[in-house]
Amino acid sequence: MTKQGKATMTTTTDNFDRAELAKFDSLASRWWDTEGDFKPLHQINPLRLDWIRQQVNLAGCRVVDIGCGGGILTESMAAASAEVTGIDMAEGPLSVARLHQLESGADVDYRKSTAEDLAAAEAGKYDVVTCLEMLEHVPDPSQVVRSCAELVRPGGHVFFSTINRNPKSFLFAIVGAEYVLKLLPTGTHEYAKFIRPSELESWARNAGLKLLASIGMHYDPLGKEYSLGANLDVNYLMSFRRPAS
Ligand code: SAH
Repeated sequence: MTKQGKATMTTTTDNFDRAELAKFDSLASRWWDTEGDFKPLHQINPLRLDWIRQQVNLAGCRVVDIGCGGGILTESMAAASAEVTGIDMAEGPLSVARLHQLESGADVDYRKSTAEDLAAAEAGKYDVVTCLEMLEHVPDPSQVVRSCAELVRPGGHVFFSTINRNPKSFLFAIVGAEYVLKLLPTGTHEYAKFIRPSELESWARNAGLKLLASIGMHYDPLGKEYSLGANLDVNYLMSFRRPAS
């Protein structure tokens, strides 16, 4: 492959962005500070976990959490008696996840891997794949969606969450969340990487997944609380199923 080709192409194993990973590395030590930079993830976690558990009984399920970070969702799924693997490409969050696991006693197998590499080794091995708040940080999110579809067994479930791309989401998720309310460090998100629900659904459909449900995640700046609702304009989750055969 020519040098130029390398710069513009994404192969299955290098679908990550070093600058994005460095951002998460630099914030990693604060991952479990419930009042710190990752406060929104702590606040939304019970809501998203409930939504997942309404659709699958996690007990005894083999689950892989793609882009697990410091392990907020990962540990909570292990606490719901799932057998959980967590993968991430940033060393800092993974170290924090492993340290926190020592304290909490959570039984999670943390590994440094891309979704693509894991799918090459463990296709069809998982009952449930979760990939939350991660797609908007990778160069080729459609490839991650494909790998998630490969990792799940026929009949299994895949959950994604990300941020919609429209003027309202720019205003709420970047201007509001990063600059006005300062819920997230500035530079956390890049508008161009946001993903419309129709795009996510079509990538998943092309990967052989069937849409089951979608729901919006809303923030009330007065009550300082998150809630789930029908509107997908800004943050949203989608669940899919790989058909049984
Ligand atoms: N899913 C977690 C963390 C979201 S933050 C949660 O919702 O609580 C996004 C995470 O994705 C970061 O930890 C970052 O390091 C990771 N990430 C970004 N690109 C990645 C890639 N290509 N492969 C694996 N992890 C990646």
